[in-house]
Amino acid sequence: MICPQCSDSETKVIDSRLQLEGQSVRRRRKCEKCEFRFTTHEKIVHQIPPLVKADGRRETFNKEKVLKGLKKACQKTDISSSQIDDVVESLEGMLRDYPAKEVPSKLIGEYVTEKLRQLDPVAYVRFASFYWNFNDIEGFVTSLKNNEIEVSTRT
Ligand SMILES: [Zn+2]
Repeated sequence: MICPQCSDSETKVIDSRLQLEGQSVRRRRKCEKCEFRFTTHEKIVHQIPPLVKADGRRETFNKEKVLKGLKKACQKTDISSSQIDDVVESLEGMLRDYPAKEVPSKLIGEYVTEKLRQLDPVAYVRFASFYWNFNDIEGFVTSLKNNEIEVSTRT
């Protein structure tokens, strides 16, 4: 923690107190350099809620799985790895702020697909095809039709 007065990084915790039934910690800190005292609050960061599949089974959000699918979809496109990270970060933010205790797992695919649609049509079609392949092929076709993208039939 950087001192708000002199910006030195050598600050020391001189007191810690639990608050709000253990959900928050208040710390008194002192700057080693200018002796300025200040207070910080540490709080629980809201976790990503569990995902619930169409058949009712629950699963935990797997960032690696999403990243892997994204990287595969973005191969040989103009999408940079920092753009991929941005997509995953904004996905995680959306999930953390999701206003319910469970997230329908199809939302992950829909969200990422929509983000890719704005970035690169090739990555978009690739991701959508992995994603909907085993889940809902009709949904995928409808989605393609709605977005008026031509895809040749796989043989
Ligand atoms: Zn200081």
